[in-house]
Amino acid sequence: MAASDCHVSVCDNRGLMTDTVTIPFSSVGLAEPILRAVAEKGYTTMSPIQAAAIPHVLQGRDVMGAAQTGTGKTAAFVLPLLQRMLKHETPSPSPARHPVRALVLTPTRELADQIQDNVKAYAKYTQLRSTVVFGGIDIKPQIAELRKGVEILTATPGRLLDHIEMKSAVLNQVEYVVLDEADRMLDIGFLPDLQRILSFLPKQRITLLFSATFSPEIKRLAASYLQNPILVEVARPNETAANVEQLFFSIHEDDKRRVLRQVIRERGITQAFVFCNSKLGCARLARTLERDGLRTTALHGDKSQDERLKALEAFKKGEVDLLVATDVAARGLDIKDVPAVFNFDIPFNAEDYVHRIGRTGRAGASGLAISFVCGDDKRLIGDIEKLIKKKVEFTPFEAAEESPRRGERFNSGRRAWGDEEEVREASRDASRDATRPSRGGYSGSYGRPAPKPVDPFFDKPYEEKAATEIASWDNSKTSATTATSLSTPSGRPTFDALRK
Ligand code: AMP
Repeated sequence: MAASDCHVSVCDNRGLMTDTVTIPFSSVGLAEPILRAVAEKGYTTMSPIQAAAIPHVLQGRDVMGAAQTGTGKTAAFVLPLLQRMLKHETPSPSPARHPVRALVLTPTRELADQIQDNVKAYAKYTQLRSTVVFGGIDIKPQIAELRKGVEILTATPGRLLDHIEMKSAVLNQVEYVVLDEADRMLDIGFLPDLQRILSFLPKQRITLLFSATFSPEIKRLAASYLQNPILVEVARPNETAANVEQLFFSIHEDDKRRVLRQVIRERGITQAFVFCNSKLGCARLARTLERDGLRTTALHGDKSQDERLKALEAFKKGEVDLLVATDVAARGLDIKDVPAVFNFDIPFNAEDYVHRIGRTGRAGASGLAISFVCGDDKRLIGDIEKLIKKKVEFTPFEAAEESPRRGERFNSGRRAWGDEEEVREASRDASRDATRPSRGGYSGSYGRPAPKPVDPFFDKPYEEKAATEIASWDNSKTSATTATSLSTPSGRPTFDALRK
């Protein structure tokens, strides 16, 4: 099937947002135990991707979903998955009665862990069993868990193949497959692994594919493995949310850290992600900020799995104020209400700009994204302007504190980006974050200029959208969506160190 042949049900942003914000979960035929779990999470109405995808999946259709993290896409595939698995519920303790029936494949360990948290929460009133497997940690407890029998398995491709080879994962009864963040799986070089895994699955199954972008490679993947899919699309990958205030400061490389501290202090920012382009820059910056008195933790490919999970937990609990991260480590992280995102380094790849700032202003909250632009970043800013179809306006910035002495650079006099070795570092981050090295096929795109998007959408002129058109799908939070300045959630810790 050519991707263009698929049955298309495009959900227009404008129509969908107004049509679906009031559609309750109870209207789509989900069973009571699932609805109870959803209600417990505090969700009242479906997000556009949920409203668009869930009914089709419940009818047994394959779905191609164009949706970024932050749109509620996890529930869009987990809820109908659970509904379809309910017929297999059994109290039997026998592992044989609990074969793997649903498989969710995702590129990174953090995403896998997050999806499993969602599956557990939504399945808590059912007897369905679930687990997650990913690389970088001891395989033995995973084997023990799989041997007990689970209906729903979330996995990164490399570690799943290890389990298949060791026969701890048997996939011949799988009825439902999700390829989550498919574009990123191909970027990392997982295509051969995916092809092998899919070859172990029964042909008769439901397959869902979610991707932020639909490159020709993604369309080919869909054409090979999905049958007559419905295309659901709610937000273009190059659209930045209207509820995120984007500021660009043109500053000297040496002033970045000082400006970061000043902005945090002046805007009363409670917590933030700070993005760097390389793991080395990330580790150095985190150390320096920690020395400045900010509770900081780093998230990059050189951290062990355990350290990464602990860093995330600490940030989620509010024990840490700043999470300094590389793109690969932070991709898709679901951390609610991050008030601000800093692009300490402008990303090499314009699409990463959109992904980075998508970490703030989630689920309808207002957000702030601040980018530090230095002399050599012009080309990268040009790429971002092309992608978001918007001219970047620089905000005048007045440094409140005296600039640090020139030459006393926190990154030992090396540029935080652009330097050949650092580019390679960033590139290595990408492959190291994967659970196993690339086996050929697609190569990673980190650390290299963004390839030109081939989607004709990118060639359309930029059309400004009113904030209300990209309004929240969560009514309870809609009031926050048009705010342009940062609102500080009450009760969250503030940066005491900076207030002094
Ligand atoms: P996701 O795109 O799946 O990472 O979801 C983004 C965030 O939205 C997560 O924190 C979800 O828990 C939350 N979420 C998902 N569906 C809904 C909903 N219908 N109403 C409110 N929040 C939701």
